[in-house]
Amino acid sequence: MRKIGAHVSAAGGYTNALTKISEIGGNCLQLFASPPRNWSSATPGSGQINEFNKLKEVLKIDPIYFHATYLINLSDNERIGEFSKKILIDELNLAPKLGVLGSVVHLGSFKEKLPDDVVFKEHPKHTTLLKNIEEVLKKTPKESLFIIENAGTHKIGASLAEIGFIIKSLRDKRLKVCLDTCHLHATGFDLTTEKYLDEFLATFDEIVGIENLELFHANESRDERGSFRDRHENIMDGKVGSAVFQNLLSHKSARDKAFILEVPGVDKKGPDAENIKRFKTLVV
Ligand SMILES: [Zn+2]
Repeated sequence: MRKIGAHVSAAGGYTNALTKISEIGGNCLQLFASPPRNWSSATPGSGQINEFNKLKEVLKIDPIYFHATYLINLSDNERIGEFSKKILIDELNLAPKLGVLGSVVHLGSFKEKLPDDVVFKEHPKHTTLLKNIEEVLKKTPKESLFIIENAGTHKIGASLAEIGFIIKSLRDKRLKVCLDTCHLHATGFDLTTEKYLDEFLATFDEIVGIENLELFHANESRDERGSFRDRHENIMDGKVGSAVFQNLLSHKSARDKAFILEVPGVDKKGPDAENIKRFKTLVV
């Protein structure tokens, strides 16, 4: 069975996210552990945890991922870096209690444009970045995944070379990758034919390792390919093109991954039944 789901709101309690994803026709889920523009860690009580575990079995929602807060910057060696580590450590400690596989993380930004020929390992901000990720991994349970999301703007993780550098420097099986189709499109990848997708995944395997690919964020885009803009659009209404999703949904290295939609929704209230329905029609 295909794993097709969405990021939905957990406002009012984690179980609300399970009910919502089930109602809109998804079978896998991404949610925030705590409000995404806030540094406070989630502290659910045992009642809430038990209720969530029960309901996810009843509704058969699997897999489930957290999306980490948007404020995180792991290349910062001061206050923001410390806050980033703390909230991620708390989140990855909470994850296994809820049967959540791990957190999808935007690593942050260097707040400066690196020269194109920069050798990653020689840049001090990369040293901080690696040290911070390593510390998070060390202080969290071995079953929690730390999932790096590719960036769609000039932030950390916009290139496969940079993601590959991080993965290969740390060599930790818990370090995984989430590929967002809107971000791949924004950074110039053309996956509109089976041949292009095949070449892309071969390159990904070479640079990052296909075994490290954990899931996809299936999003359309409002912008042209190569725009370095990150504005998500509803399935079938954007400039990525449905062929890209069809290709992913039929490729042997991609078809069995979870596809999580983070689209605005036809009523602009977030991922909805209509988008899940549209996406499912692309399964061939
Ligand atoms: Zn995403």
